[in-house]
Amino acid sequence: MGFKEKLESGKDYYEIRLESIGGLGANLCGKMLGELGVKYLDVNSSNFSSYGSEKTGTPVKGFIRYCKKEKEIRVHSPVVEPDLLVVFHQALLKDPSVWKGCSRETAVIIAMEPGQKTVQWKQGVCYGLEAQRIAMETQSRINVVMLGAALKLMGIENLEAGEQICRDTLGKKYPEALNNNLEGMKRGYEEVKKLERQEVCQNERSREKTAQESTKQQEWGYANAPIGGINPRFGSTVVADLSPSRQGYIPLFLKERCINCGLCHSTCPDMVFQFAKGEYKGREMMVNQGLDYYHCKGCLRCVDVCPVNALVRGVEAEHSDKEYFLPNKELLRMPAYYEEAGADGYITSESYLTEKRMEGGEV
Ligand code: SF4
Ligand code: SF4
Repeated sequence: MGFKEKLESGKDYYEIRLESIGGLGANLCGKMLGELGVKYLDVNSSNFSSYGSEKTGTPVKGFIRYCKKEKEIRVHSPVVEPDLLVVFHQALLKDPSVWKGCSRETAVIIAMEPGQKTVQWKQGVCYGLEAQRIAMETQSRINVVMLGAALKLMGIENLEAGEQICRDTLGKKYPEALNNNLEGMKRGYEEVKKLERQEVCQNERSREKTAQESTKQQEWGYANAPIGGINPRFGSTVVADLSPSRQGYIPLFLKERCINCGLCHSTCPDMVFQFAKGEYKGREMMVNQGLDYYHCKGCLRCVDVCPVNALVRGVEAEHSDKEYFLPNKELLRMPAYYEEAGADGYITSESYLTEKRMEGGEV
């Protein structure tokens, strides 16, 4: 049911929740959806996002509410029972909090990977589109593609209002990218489709297995933390899977060119490069062994800085088996408490509360 029908049917609000990762532009998408209501859809609307200081790579939620023009919006809390849920990245689907409040009627739009055949789905009526591929082909961004898809699911008959809000918001800020963004939004609107039964699956067994494996992992304490110390709180870079922040590109390592200068290591903000004692040109030294792509957010600063082009920009979809992918064994991934806390662990005052609730020790 579209947003107008919903409001006509007597429901107070039509509510949207955006589930995203810092860096994908969900905040701006939420703002555009909010403004769209007031300026062009003849309804009242409000929106806000929830994110913390470490935005890139950490979960972000956006909330948008519409109601009839005559009504004042007095609710300013997060959307707990969305009519429309928009998930910007696959990695979020395993987080139970992403699905919170969804019912059988909730329309769920999922950004799928290029060529992806099935999605892990839990609740609601599932729609999908290859948002990243569309963004790359149109040289726009995922947020405008998802905006187009959301407009379609809201039951908006054409893109006039959407184009206008894009012009208002992006036209002034990024005039040179406006046409690409309009094209990205149009493709999102046109290409979002309801997923067939065979394209969605609920794989509870693998979900359970992952949970069991993660509980086996040790937790860090004073006796076993890596030298230099770590911050094991939820959402900190070291436990966060930053791969969802990538926008289609990764650094590729051409080891035979590498002179082990270490510039990439000192430039990378996320401990991606794995140096270990080794030999280079007959001398014992610290040698670049590879990258831990789990922590790589695809900023490509390392590519810029490498003096001998041993790091080059690659299209991620073409490198599903990444050469020189070297997981950092010292760093804990997905500890049990992070899985349990889910997106509640992102950097807001909620992190503090969750840690207290889960007896995580002194804060
Ligand atoms: S900056 Fe380039 S040459 Fe230097 S260690 Fe990194 S990959 Fe090797
Ligand atoms: S792209 Fe390079 S600098 Fe950026 S996070 Fe990945 S490895 Fe680090």
